[in-house]
Amino acid sequence: MTIGILGGGQLGYMLALAGYPLGLRFRFLDPSPEAPVGRIANRVTAEYSDKVALEKFANGLELVTYEFENVPVEAAEFLAERVPVYPPPSALAEAQDRRREKKLFQRLGIPVPEFAEVVSAAKLDAAIETVGLPGVLKTCRMGYDGKGQWMLRTPEDVEKAWKELPEVPLILEKFVTFAREVSLLAARSRSGEIAFYPLVENHHREGILRLSLAPAPNLTSALQQAAVQAGRKVLEALDYVGVLCIEFFEVNGRLLANEMAPRVHNSGHWSIEGAVTSQFENHLRAVLGLPLGATATVGHSAMLNLIGEVPGTEEVLKVADAHLHLYGKELRPGRKVGHVTVRAERAEELQRRLGGLPAFFHRPEFCLDKTKMERAAQPA
Ligand code: AMP
Repeated sequence: MTIGILGGGQLGYMLALAGYPLGLRFRFLDPSPEAPVGRIANRVTAEYSDKVALEKFANGLELVTYEFENVPVEAAEFLAERVPVYPPPSALAEAQDRRREKKLFQRLGIPVPEFAEVVSAAKLDAAIETVGLPGVLKTCRMGYDGKGQWMLRTPEDVEKAWKELPEVPLILEKFVTFAREVSLLAARSRSGEIAFYPLVENHHREGILRLSLAPAPNLTSALQQAAVQAGRKVLEALDYVGVLCIEFFEVNGRLLANEMAPRVHNSGHWSIEGAVTSQFENHLRAVLGLPLGATATVGHSAMLNLIGEVPGTEEVLKVADAHLHLYGKELRPGRKVGHVTVRAERAEELQRRLGGLPAFFHRPEFCLDKTKMERAAQPA
């Protein structure tokens, strides 16, 4: 049985690694001849708009899924006429546009940060009047890892952003002074079965995820329930199949939905070692209509992203229950090239293990600063 995957980055790489034990084969389509999956699976190098290549790619596949959310919806629809495509292309369309995504959350009664549409740069002033400063200006499409975003605190920031703005639809969001950021990983199978992982606490720098703690420290059942309620509404409204991630801001014990990703997510990488069933395996089970695996955590985990540089392998592996994942990508600044998950039975033990990581990790960008570690040490 061969599964087709659109996108050939590290998420696809980890999906394949999770699928091999289930006897699955994989075929990837990615425009880049450097896509990391080339090391481990059959890869077609072609543009997503290349109908001849898509036709050939689809031939003989059991189904198609994605590991990259900016695949053109037309490509997904074209494939859906030939093979089953999960999640449905309509879910992809919702998640690709921040404005649509926010409106979906609102329709479902899921709170979101205050926002205003900015149809063109010329309309920015009106949006600022509605939302106020400080705010975060975001392109509706193609933004990720902090790209396509402008932080507006002062009139000077507005002036500067105005000059840089591309002529594309944008939204202005109120800047939220959140207590923390959390994400929910949810899975829904073709059979309608649903499962949720415990909320994860995420720390970003320069718009890029650096550290995830799972389960989120001090996770209350009220917070988990609020996230699960929102997740269930989205999964059902979109007739979703696969793993979905929703990112939230926690403010005064309440959750505001920031965005969603219709795919496995960086904030779920810890689940490879830290959950009974990883997000990657559960995504494959979901799209194949197989029973979902248990999402319970196995102790406490911390996932640290490797951005543009990698530590010494030996130094990491000598830390008990530390796991290194290298994606085989060329090292370039700002690029996600791997991650490390450290796991422990108890939160205090996790803290000790993180403390024992090599000096490489004890720099501000890894967010392992004292406060967070003290919080991580509290039992969930
Ligand atoms: P996003 O691409 O929307 O996930 O934004 C990347 C990161 O920027 C988020 O994870 C937050 O850390 C920060 N951010 C985005 N929007 C806001 C906001 N409205 N208020 C405060 N921080 C934000």
